[in-house]
Amino acid sequence: MKTIGIIGAGQMGSGIAHVCALAGLDVRLLDANAEALPKAVAGIDKNIERQVQRGKVKAEDKAAALKRISTSADYASFGDCDLVIEAATENEAVKREVFKKLCPVLKPEALIASNTSSISITRLAATTDRPAKFIGMHFMNPVPLMQLVEIIRGIVTDDKTFEIIKALTAKLGKTAAVAEDFPAFIVNRILLPMINESVYTLYEGVGNVESIDTAMKLGANHPMGPLELADFIGLDTCLAVMHVLYDGLADSKYRPCPLLVKYVEAGWLGRKTKRGFYDYAGEKPVPTR
Ligand code: NAD
Repeated sequence: MKTIGIIGAGQMGSGIAHVCALAGLDVRLLDANAEALPKAVAGIDKNIERQVQRGKVKAEDKAAALKRISTSADYASFGDCDLVIEAATENEAVKREVFKKLCPVLKPEALIASNTSSISITRLAATTDRPAKFIGMHFMNPVPLMQLVEIIRGIVTDDKTFEIIKALTAKLGKTAAVAEDFPAFIVNRILLPMINESVYTLYEGVGNVESIDTAMKLGANHPMGPLELADFIGLDTCLAVMHVLYDGLADSKYRPCPLLVKYVEAGWLGRKTKRGFYDYAGEKPVPTR
């Protein structure tokens, strides 16, 4: 494993590029939005610099890692990749389109991983020309700080692919948890219904943003409140995961809260748009309800 392609240079794609480059891998980063690429590289530079300041990374390793990252809007740049990790927007149609463009340029032995939070790995794999070499590699946000990678085998994923991805996870300094390919896997199957319930708690007026987050931080010892966490994940991603749970498990307990739907319709997606359950325009986040 020498060269890794990453599709989607948003918060997850950037984080994955960051850890791969620091682990000595060559990284090719692609995004449909040309503006996302320089922004991603600047973000990675800033985040590795923070690790340098804390004494976690040597300055020369930072320089070498940044040199290993190249960006392009052309899929041909993935021709020499051993693995391509897809981290585009959580929308099945978008991901299908990505794989349609990706497969023809890949070398035959190249693997494909998806960082999807919830979509069936087996179904995504079936849209490619190599379902046995397709796997779920679900990094957590923020990637450089979070220890876990959930590894999800599709029903067709072969043992070799699974072993290679397990070894890569270890090389990146992460710990793997293996999940079966059911909607939202392990982490989000448990986490997102809790977040959705916290939005219901807000919607029904049981608490306001501040009381709900304070209650869960101090009452359940969570490092972040559920609404703060929802803003951090992205409300569009949260809603997409709830839809996958609702549709995939056909159980009304997973119905997305109408208030979450309304925020997404308004374009209030959390930190990335500077407004969600908190307003991030000022120095300190301010609750909006
Ligand atoms: P994001 O909105 O920050 O970034 C998504 C990026 O994909 C954007 O830069 C967008 O321009 C790009 N994109 C959209 N369509 C594209 C296309 N057709 N081709 C190439 N690029 C395209 O989202 P994110 O939070 O980085 O999420 C990306 C993936 O990671 C999703 O599948 C999400 O479910 C998953 N994920 C997210 C989190 C989280 O906490 N945010 C955690 C784990 C996994």
